[in-house]
Amino acid sequence: MDLEEYILYMQKKINLLNMNKEELLIFFDKLGEKPFRSHQVMRWIYHHYCDNFNYMTNLSKSLKIKLNQIAEIRAPIIVKEQLSLDGTIKWAMQIDKQQIETVYIPENKRTTLCISSQIGCPLGCSFCGTAQQGFNRNLNVSEIIGQVWRAAQLININKKINMINRFPITNIVFMGMGEPLLNIVNVVSAIKIILDELGFKLSKRHVTLSTSGIVPGIAKLKDMIDIPLAISLHAPNDLIRNKIMPINKKYNINSVLEAIRKYSTHSKSNYGKITIEYVLLKNINDDVLHAHQLAKQLQGIPCKINLIPWNPIPNIQYTCSSQNRIHAFLKVLLTYNITTIIRKIRGADINAACGQLTGEVMNRIQLRHNSL
Ligand code: SAH
Ligand code: SF4
Repeated sequence: MDLEEYILYMQKKINLLNMNKEELLIFFDKLGEKPFRSHQVMRWIYHHYCDNFNYMTNLSKSLKIKLNQIAEIRAPIIVKEQLSLDGTIKWAMQIDKQQIETVYIPENKRTTLCISSQIGCPLGCSFCGTAQQGFNRNLNVSEIIGQVWRAAQLININKKINMINRFPITNIVFMGMGEPLLNIVNVVSAIKIILDELGFKLSKRHVTLSTSGIVPGIAKLKDMIDIPLAISLHAPNDLIRNKIMPINKKYNINSVLEAIRKYSTHSKSNYGKITIEYVLLKNINDDVLHAHQLAKQLQGIPCKINLIPWNPIPNIQYTCSSQNRIHAFLKVLLTYNITTIIRKIRGADINAACGQLTGEVMNRIQLRHNSL
């Protein structure tokens, strides 16, 4: 730590965005304040997007002074906004000297925010743009919930000044940069705020976590919170999955399927149905024989399949499957009575589609594909 960093460290205030309801209650208790104060502050933060204690009109003067001295409400700052022709928006948010990306996807009555859980990703999937960036660190709670807070604040400001009518966020997906289950404690704490009546008040059916299949993480998640789960399976057998997802060498398909079977038995959200994500890579995993193999693997697991046309990433030598091949694949899965949809591509013109989020990562781990 150099002198400048040390001085900043010593001056650091406690960021209230790092705390969920229970933690805030403890914090206010330590300040000698009643629980209702903590609830008031939460409402100011998450219902009014207020990050200045002086504007919290129902707090006593002395509490405002105390909070100003030791605490702050600090979300990442939006440093770049890109608008897609289809209405999708990509925001780059500043974290340290780096950037993470968050995507706003409006669609009829639903508005989804796709958020990041890590700066980069350490898992090196061969088809993914985030993987190419390498990995720096896990995001803390304020940096995760701060993405939602910042987006919601901006939508609210736009509405107030009647500039653009952007719809409030109804759904959140952990499908941005990073592997959420490698940052499970912070991710679950942020989800608690997303679901809380004093937080963003989203229904738990509307918050989805996507994972590459971190088996111990899936087991832990089931004991921590109940939300819909999506699994990036992407291959019908270990031979193919080992080649495109190095993590499969640690947690193979059988172990992942066993973990999701248990999760689904336990879960009430999404009626216990797990989403299976399957990115279609031409001549790698998109043959009709692969579709048969996939359907057989999934027998007995309550699930639906999302087929994802591969989004091109510079310097990655895959090709997106043709419409014919995608539809032939889909047709096979439907013969097994598995609900299957083809995921709509959103925001591709601004590189905001699945796997295209790259941000600016100061790489700590140089990854070679298949090196795990
Ligand atoms: N790390 C988590 C969540 C982030 S990725 C995970 O892997 O599940 C969100 C989804 O986009 C995953 O299903 C991922 O496999 C997929 N994806 C990655 N790169 C892609 C690409 N280039 N085209 C389409 N989907 C991609
Ligand atoms: Fe990480 Fe997910 Fe990309 Fe794989 S697909 S590298 S797990 S973000």
